[in-house]
Amino acid sequence: MTETLRGVGVSHGVAIGQVRHMGTAVLEPPARQAPTEGAPREQARAQQAVVAVAADLQARGNLAGGEAQAVLEAQALMALDPELTADVERRITVGSTAERAVYDAFASYRALLANAGEYLAGRVADLDDVRNRIIARLMGVPMPGVPDSDEPYVLVARDLAPADTALLDPSLVLGFVTEEGGPTSHSAILARALGVPAVVALAGAKALAEGVVVAVDGSTGVVTVDPSEEARAELRVIAAERRAVLAASTGPGQTSDGHRVPLLANIGGPGDVQAAVAAGAEGVGLFRTELLFLDDSRQAPSEESQVAAYRAVLEAFPEGRVVVRVLDAGADKPLAFLSPGEEPNPALGVRGLRALLDHPEVLGAQLRALARAAEGLPVYLEVMAPMVADRIDARAFADACRAAGLRAKFGAMVEIPSAALRARSILQEVEFLSLGTNDLAQYTFAADRQVGALARLQDPWQPALLDLVAAAAEAARATGKSCGVCGEAASDPALACVLAGLGVTSLSMGASSIPYVRARLAKHTLAQCERAAAAARAVDTADEARAAAHQVLSGE
Ligand code: PEP
Ligand code: MG
Repeated sequence: MTETLRGVGVSHGVAIGQVRHMGTAVLEPPARQAPTEGAPREQARAQQAVVAVAADLQARGNLAGGEAQAVLEAQALMALDPELTADVERRITVGSTAERAVYDAFASYRALLANAGEYLAGRVADLDDVRNRIIARLMGVPMPGVPDSDEPYVLVARDLAPADTALLDPSLVLGFVTEEGGPTSHSAILARALGVPAVVALAGAKALAEGVVVAVDGSTGVVTVDPSEEARAELRVIAAERRAVLAASTGPGQTSDGHRVPLLANIGGPGDVQAAVAAGAEGVGLFRTELLFLDDSRQAPSEESQVAAYRAVLEAFPEGRVVVRVLDAGADKPLAFLSPGEEPNPALGVRGLRALLDHPEVLGAQLRALARAAEGLPVYLEVMAPMVADRIDARAFADACRAAGLRAKFGAMVEIPSAALRARSILQEVEFLSLGTNDLAQYTFAADRQVGALARLQDPWQPALLDLVAAAAEAARATGKSCGVCGEAASDPALACVLAGLGVTSLSMGASSIPYVRARLAKHTLAQCERAAAAARAVDTADEARAAAHQVLSGE
């Protein structure tokens, strides 16, 4: 029966396809004791699960080839490790269930690895994956990680972290639906990067039946479960109409009276360049370099391997601007080689620039790789640091850039309220600012960007967030420097007009949003954008700000 659910639309377009759930993280099995007479059965269950998981990993390795094969084969060997097997057997003999025995045996092995030097500590994530697979099989729940499917599907998950999705085959994903995650979550960012429709913060997503057909409208946030043939046809017509409007919008970003606001693309690597060029991006406003290294983060990437990846991006925008962000590791984007270890609150911990300043050799290698990649190219390279808190941070970053011999503009991301409030002081050290409104909202409202229930507080229309944007833009204007926005706020067409009205000098977003923003900006004068911005800041809530700006922009 058709049912309609509503979440937050975060990536435009319509997708119709079957639901495939992302395997959930494995829960801790209960510490229940099995009856003694059940031990032989538990031993057999454990043995079967271990052998099946090892065979599956081996088969995936054969299919994948290359480096992935070596990793998967090593994981298959971990599953069959004789000491682990003996420990599982011992635990079952004294009364554990198969799943609890596996869980506990892996936990003690894990502790050994974690304390056994950097290389072995780096294998802990692989070991956890093997454990999760065996326990998922024993508990009869979906395997952790991306679904195994040969057919295109709509991916449904609690939330998606970049690390979860490194193995996703983009050609199979029609769209995303997540239960958690706000408009600035990485699920939203990834969907825009792939150009697939997405709805986040959809209560009830987890309960969608595996295989049921859903229609996902990423513009309205509506997900229709089991839509009728007529409803599907109607949605396809709406999507085609929207595409036609967009196709008519081309050229550089500007208001109707010619005020230029360059429209740039957010990318995660050379693979995103083609879509950016196709969407008419005038350059790259945010190259999230950490995404290149998430799937194998045991060791820092070599300078050589970085040069090749950066050069592929820089070559795609001759004479264009490319803003590269140095590695932003931590919280939901862990890189083992920059990891500060266990922290009580990683979002408030040693992440972003803080982690890089603790590892000057990693920062130096990245900056040198960028300098080498840009050699001889006519590109305008700009390099910026994530999570800059104050002038001391900004100076440390600028010093590192100079020490690496980088011939580029150095900038600071404004993601922490202190940086927006004291933007002038930061601009004493660097040449440009880029507002990361996703983290800026998270830290302004003390609202974790991964928690869907807090979507109201991560709404980029919140007047307090607009006030901070205005403060940073004003500081840049006063010092004759630029101040772009590269957070997800830039991808909302009406909000993009408001940001331009606040004095923001460029807008960077996932490539698929560029045509929508370009079309909207071209409809309004700068003065209208300024009035919309003033109206949005004059009220008290995000909904009121949205309504006030819409009223001005629609000329009512
Ligand atoms: C931001 O925080 O707005 C930003 C652009 O960085 P990321 O989303 O990668 O944290
Ligand atoms: Mg950020």
